[in-house]
Amino acid sequence: MGRSPDVVVVGAGVVGASCAYYLAAAGVSVRLYDRSYVASGSSGSCEGNVLAWDKELERELPLALRSGDLWQGLSAELDDFEYDRKGSIVVAETEAELLACAERNRVLAGLGVEGEVLDADALRREEPYAAHDLPGGVLYPADAQLEPRLATAALVRGAVRLGAELVTDVTVKAILRGADGRATGVETSSGRVGADMVVIAAGVWTPKLLETAGLTVPVTPRKGQIVVLERSPVVFRRKLSEAGYVAAVEADDAALQIAMVVESTPSGTALLGSSRQHVGFDREVELGVAGAIARRAARFFPVLNDARALRVYAGLRPLTPDHVPIIGPFAEAPNICVATGHEGAGIGLAPATGELVALWHTGAPSPVPIEWFSPDRFAPVELAAS
Ligand SMILES: Cc1cc2nc3c(=O)[nH]c(=O)nc-3n(C[C@H](O)[C@H](O)[C@H](O)COP(=O)(O)OP(=O)(O)OC[C@H]3O[C@@H](n4cnc5c(N)ncnc54)[C@H](O)[C@@H]3O)c2cc1C
Repeated sequence: MGRSPDVVVVGAGVVGASCAYYLAAAGVSVRLYDRSYVASGSSGSCEGNVLAWDKELERELPLALRSGDLWQGLSAELDDFEYDRKGSIVVAETEAELLACAERNRVLAGLGVEGEVLDADALRREEPYAAHDLPGGVLYPADAQLEPRLATAALVRGAVRLGAELVTDVTVKAILRGADGRATGVETSSGRVGADMVVIAAGVWTPKLLETAGLTVPVTPRKGQIVVLERSPVVFRRKLSEAGYVAAVEADDAALQIAMVVESTPSGTALLGSSRQHVGFDREVELGVAGAIARRAARFFPVLNDARALRVYAGLRPLTPDHVPIIGPFAEAPNICVATGHEGAGIGLAPATGELVALWHTGAPSPVPIEWFSPDRFAPVELAAS
């Protein structure tokens, strides 16, 4: 396999691909490992919303705004890339929800997110198939939609063009640490590899790998399902989500959460999402959940009552206790960097995450402080002896 790289990145999902791309773009020698194939994890079983309106305001939103701009640039730079800055609409189900949406829009406007409150007529001008009792919503014109598998593959190809090496079907079995706590490399299913830095972007499998180095992050899998229609009876112009989506994301209880998310795709189908469940690493499709997703979508867009499902798939979102991603090194192992925990926003946040890791590694100033996302923020608090 030749010379050891400067940096080993573990995980060729969208986050690892982005880390490899921005590190390679900064002139760093990178080797990207995946135990399977590119986008074989959550990045191959999700949707491709690149949204700002739904983010945690203090740390995640600045990352999302940066990432939205980076995706826009990447869509022009990288090839075979399905991307559409088509805007999204948050649809309210009740007048109370519409008032709350308008208030959030006011707050977001102060933070640099452009939005426009729509009344019932304006909503139907935007989306003629919206149910007639819906009071309106908010349009966020800068939100985008992309095809996540193609985008992940495009980032990997871009990284390889910049000099990165891609190694698939090889498992990273352990992170190796020296007596000073720093990583010296990794043990893989095809042998040992030395590295000056290790980036763990292994999605929901990150804690398992960190354990091999005596480290931990509180990331748990949160299952989600998507229903793909055989052929959409109509075309939805914008990306559509219900106002209750943020509550479903932020819910801390284990109960099944369903929030309507609907998008038409360039291939003529439509994706209906999505569910949230805590069921460990189970990725089996549950038809009962798929039915609930379809019914919820049809409540907002009754035309979908006549639609037929082509397939259903399930993936796992990497969830953190504070719903903010984990990006950066451990104080006790300063060259082991984590990049995970993006829950339902890893596609949207991937470019800014990769950029942050590369800027930190090369010592360059970054638009968003990496310390906001430190893995050490979860360290148990030691109580002083009284
Ligand atoms: C139903 C659903 C809908 C979603 N919709 C959206 C959306 O619209 N917008 C959005 O932004 N996000 C969305 N998400 C979330 C998004 O899918 C994730 O946040 C994102 O894909 C995480 O990417 P990742 O690179 O961190 O992880 P993954 O894509 O899971 O990649 C991790 C990779 O690491 C590899 N790996 C693991 N362990 C090892 C090892 N030991 N050695 C080598 N390789 C290893 C795996 O094979 C895998 O390829 C959705 C998720 C789901 C489930």
